[in-house]
Amino acid sequence: MRDTLSIQADVSLQKLNTFGIDAKARAFLAVRSVDDLRAVVADEALCAMPRLVLGGGSNLLLTRDFPGLVLHMCMTGKSVSDEDDAAIYVTAAAGENWHDFVRWTIGNGWGGLENLSLIPGTVGAAPVQNIGAYGAELREYFHSLQAFDFHTGDVRTFNREDCRFAYRDSVFRQAEPGRFAILSVTFALPRQWRPNLAWPELAATLPDATDPALTPKAVSDAIIAIRQRKLPDPAQIGNAGSFFKNPTVTAAVFEKLKAAWPTMPGYAQPDGNWRIAAGWLIEQCGWKGKNVGDAGVCETQALVLVNRGLASGAEIISLSQRIQEDVKARFGLWLEPEPVFV
Ligand SMILES: Cc1cc2nc3c(=O)[nH]c(=O)nc-3n(C[C@H](O)[C@H](O)[C@H](O)COP(=O)(O)OP(=O)(O)OC[C@H]3O[C@@H](n4cnc5c(N)ncnc54)[C@H](O)[C@@H]3O)c2cc1C
Repeated sequence: MRDTLSIQADVSLQKLNTFGIDAKARAFLAVRSVDDLRAVVADEALCAMPRLVLGGGSNLLLTRDFPGLVLHMCMTGKSVSDEDDAAIYVTAAAGENWHDFVRWTIGNGWGGLENLSLIPGTVGAAPVQNIGAYGAELREYFHSLQAFDFHTGDVRTFNREDCRFAYRDSVFRQAEPGRFAILSVTFALPRQWRPNLAWPELAATLPDATDPALTPKAVSDAIIAIRQRKLPDPAQIGNAGSFFKNPTVTAAVFEKLKAAWPTMPGYAQPDGNWRIAAGWLIEQCGWKGKNVGDAGVCETQALVLVNRGLASGAEIISLSQRIQEDVKARFGLWLEPEPVFV
């Protein structure tokens, strides 16, 4: 069975992770169909190896050479899979580029995903951390997905409840690493589109929600402009976007913090809790724009750690720990990393 698979040995992952960390995969397979995954399961030696399911590598921190099999999800294709009075159902294969997929839906006149424009990575990885930005999250328009289960060798369908979505979290982040490979994702895009302008910076740059000039494309274009202004481009400097999640606290804790630091930005959550801007906490600790060797904190957005050259995963972690300790000492809050450490 292994002869039918093009397994490569000792493959550099440097161009396959947006941090640009120089690490190697012991074995590597570009996955083009579910049959490739079935063949992996059928091969005892391959199946026994540690597994990393890889998309665009934009939410990963490689901390060492990977001592197992990297499955690079390369399946492509997107189409309308169904329609009803309420929605258009669109399905895209795991290896499709997320932003291209979003722009394709918008180009066809279907709104819903525009606030998630320009997030790097693949469609298959998007449900893993329930990607979110500018007041929106993937789960809002998610319908279902298909995933290959390495435990059983079956393809399973997951609906929204099965995925157990939460803030930058889902059942796929909680599962044993490498258990599931998401094959395709289906979204239900509403026929009655309503813009989500809850994010103040977005509302400030766009016409009123009742103005006919306000289209999904106009919202997407505004998001792209904001992101290009604020976030470093991984093609120019290695990074994985936000390195920490925004800490969530109860209303009582937030009130106390706000009394001590009146300018602390917080966002009220539907469950009554508050989410605090981690970038602000880091900036207050004086880390914005600082470097330790080649590992650094971005000068335009303190939430983003960057690789200024030849930083290793260990150096990025060491910088992140110093930031965590400083934030803890000053505010009593612990910052959880957002990227997956491998
Ligand atoms: C500049 C920049 C900005 C960013 N902005 C945002 C943002 O605004 N909001 C946000 O939520 N994220 C953001 N991110 C993080 C990242 O873009 C997303 O998490 C994205 O969904 C990761 O996709 P990927 O294909 O690169 O996944 P990878 O980094 O390849 O993988 C991430 C995780 O998903 C798993 N995985 C990947 N593909 C599959 C699959 N097909 N099946 C099962 N598991 C899989 C991997 O094993 C790993 O655990 C940003 C990153 C960068 C570099």
